[in-house]
Amino acid sequence: MSNILVTGGAGFIGSHYVRTLLSGGYAGYEDARVTVLDKLSYAGNPANLPLEDPRLTFVRGDIGNQELLLHLLPGHDAIVHFAAESHVDRSVDGAAAFVRANVLGTQNLLDAAVRTGTGPVVHVSTDEVYGSIDSGSWTESAPLLANSPYSASKAGSDLLARAYHRTHGLDVRVTRCSNNYGTHQHVEKLIPNFVTRLLRGLQVPLYGDGGNIREWLHVDDHCRALHLVLTGGRPGAVYNIGGATPLTNRQMTERLLELCAADWSAVRFVADRKGHDLRYAVDDTRIRTELGYAPRIPLDEGLAQVVGWYRDHPDWWKPLVEA
Ligand code: NAD
Repeated sequence: MSNILVTGGAGFIGSHYVRTLLSGGYAGYEDARVTVLDKLSYAGNPANLPLEDPRLTFVRGDIGNQELLLHLLPGHDAIVHFAAESHVDRSVDGAAAFVRANVLGTQNLLDAAVRTGTGPVVHVSTDEVYGSIDSGSWTESAPLLANSPYSASKAGSDLLARAYHRTHGLDVRVTRCSNNYGTHQHVEKLIPNFVTRLLRGLQVPLYGDGGNIREWLHVDDHCRALHLVLTGGRPGAVYNIGGATPLTNRQMTERLLELCAADWSAVRFVADRKGHDLRYAVDDTRIRTELGYAPRIPLDEGLAQVVGWYRDHPDWWKPLVEA
């Protein structure tokens, strides 16, 4: 694979994947060329990308535009599909944009992949499609019982990916990863939101009693797993991506307070998010045994590095908090 199309590559995770690929982070892919297709929604930022790199082509456009896709896809030998509306709170306020981008956009992309014979396609799904689990963990065969409009739209696209493999024989591989943290994440998400508030001496809003449990994985581990699936995964297979550290939101807040030299007086408890899932947990045995995946970045080390990045890059996040 030498010419990879990355949708949503100007966002948080997609841009990490592109930067890593172009900087030679994946052995054997040092010469690969990348086309990023991104509509630059409020969450997309071209400054996340090394636009001067001659191996990168940036195309501003919507995955919902079939004509554009039919023009763009030929010549590419793989697609990594990140593009999506991604913020649960926004989906609670209004689900239409989520169905449009995540369900219809993905269907449109899969159609174009079939029509142009482009593949493999890695569909970047999420552990949230499974719903909430009180104890234990989900394997890939657990039912999809999504609870938020965001996760329901991701479940729709996840099932479409399966259907395009079964029906059309398209080489699609689906990944379901837990919560990511890292640099370049939009300030609306929990960690950047809290860190950029604490760095400005502001209070942070913690939902409910802070007891919701999430597994936190460094974005670099997620992207390495995605590349493993792209290069060695099975067509039609689903891979959970886990190995992350489970923490209650209260425990995460405690760590962020410490890293930002603040205390609990900076925390304001607010009414819980509607339909807030209590706990997510994935069983990642399949990707570990089939593809040799194992996460590398311990949470405390990664979190300290990420908080340091936000501290050193107010020029990146100040325009977002002021918007
Ligand atoms: P993000 O919101 O930071 O980035 C999404 C990108 O997609 C943005 O650059 C945006 O401009 C672009 N985009 C949105 N709609 C588009 C459209 N119609 N056409 C073209 N581009 C469009 O999101 P993220 O956190 O980087 O998530 C990337 C993917 O990973 C998503 O599919 C998400 O569901 C999935 N995921 C995220 C996490 C997480 O913790 N953030 C965990 C598991 C899976």
